[in-house]
Amino acid sequence: MSFESDTAIIVDCLSQFYKHSNSGNGRCIEQHPMQKLIDELELSKLVAEGGLSGDKLKHFLENYLSGITKIYHPGNVAHQQAVPHYMSALAGLIDNFVSSDGSTYEIGPASVSVEYFLINWLIGKVGWVPAPVPPEEQTDNHHAGGVLLQGGSLSNLTAIIAARTHIAPDVWQHGSPGDLVILAPKHTHYSIARAAGIIGIGHQSVRSLEVDNQGLIIVDRLPEVISEVKSQGKRILAVVANAANTAAGLFDPLQEIGLFCQEHDLWFHIDGAHGGPALLTQKYKHLTKGFNLASSITINMHKLMRVSSTCSALLMRDARTLDQAFVQQASYLFFDKEQPGYDFLHRTIECTKPVLGLKFFMVLAALGESGISDYIERLFDLTMEIYNYLESLPDFECPLEPQSNILCFLIHGVPEGQLLLREELLNRGMFYISTASINDVRYLRLTISNPETNLGHIKELVNELREIRDTGLSRK
Ligand SMILES: *Cc1c(COP(=O)(O)O)cnc(C)c1O
Repeated sequence: MSFESDTAIIVDCLSQFYKHSNSGNGRCIEQHPMQKLIDELELSKLVAEGGLSGDKLKHFLENYLSGITKIYHPGNVAHQQAVPHYMSALAGLIDNFVSSDGSTYEIGPASVSVEYFLINWLIGKVGWVPAPVPPEEQTDNHHAGGVLLQGGSLSNLTAIIAARTHIAPDVWQHGSPGDLVILAPKHTHYSIARAAGIIGIGHQSVRSLEVDNQGLIIVDRLPEVISEVKSQGKRILAVVANAANTAAGLFDPLQEIGLFCQEHDLWFHIDGAHGGPALLTQKYKHLTKGFNLASSITINMHKLMRVSSTCSALLMRDARTLDQAFVQQASYLFFDKEQPGYDFLHRTIECTKPVLGLKFFMVLAALGESGISDYIERLFDLTMEIYNYLESLPDFECPLEPQSNILCFLIHGVPEGQLLLREELLNRGMFYISTASINDVRYLRLTISNPETNLGHIKELVNELREIRDTGLSRK
């Protein structure tokens, strides 16, 4: 049993897994019943025996990998999940080996420094004032700030918590006031409604903003909503807009909403969990116009930036709003100390925080800024190409023109419904797609993340869907 020899076994298995998945030969999804998997993986036996190493390790890992949906398969076009660059995996290895900490400088000076650097790098892209690097004198000059968190849901929750402390500074002593309302379009990610539940104002405090036929916020209707809320004696906790929305991947008119919020002194949260990285491109940067007007922004790295799950950035235009978000104190950690670095501890729900910056940094440093930009531009371009192709077919239809790497569509002539068609497609296993409901119609949905996926694969998908429609479903 040795680290070196077991690592060599793992690298070999992963390399086979990658090559086989990426070739597109074989299935990309296969779901067996859970008890069967637990038995096949021999979990009880391995726990009882111990000694997971060498051939035993190889056997286990091969079984394990065969039970994983193949992210590197070009037919995997389902979810908003990055197809990771291998540097992300290597960062994970380093990070899990040294088991540093992402929040406390004493424990992980280099880890915290990388995260601090990345937050400032993102802040620079948004166009805000970067935070001074400690221990430089903290000045009274207004600057931005942020933190890396485990996923967009946690970033959104933290943003809502900060907005709440901002509007109700005594909330940590007295609890949530009952007059707070969040305004968000209907298709907003469920994590916003969940955040409302968590902070104790309830789902019903999330009011749907009126949207156009593309599902995007109608800015002209905002004044009416604001006066309605005010006339009911309520206060607006935050206005939430999407960059982009989860179902269709479309961007709200951020600039206009941002100006409106500025004028009315409202907290403006941009949920850029999916599309935020468009900021890093030349060609699609225009979609993120208005980011600089936000109070807070969520951007995920594990969707469009080739970083493995999970890594999300929460950025705030005024760092003080994040610094004050949580006021509760733990005396053994929070005490004034002279130190050469920085603690993220007061900005997070977590105490021990995984190091999320290393994988983000190593992918970025491997591809370079232009490499990331090229990758994102190619995905968005290809999605538009797929849209044009599907629209040219007599029996396919897309409800909306795409703006990012998400595309909804349906195939005609399926009275059984698109969901049953998808189920049969997944049973066959060569393609993995998702679904979304838009204006109460159920669509099939593609998210293009794999650098190897091309129009040829989508043409095969079309053939397979037609075959299932024409033969597979009717025989059932
Ligand atoms: C994916 C997504 C989220 C949730 O992010 P997780 O990292 O999965 O928690 C939130 N908002 C939007 C717009 C998303 O696309």
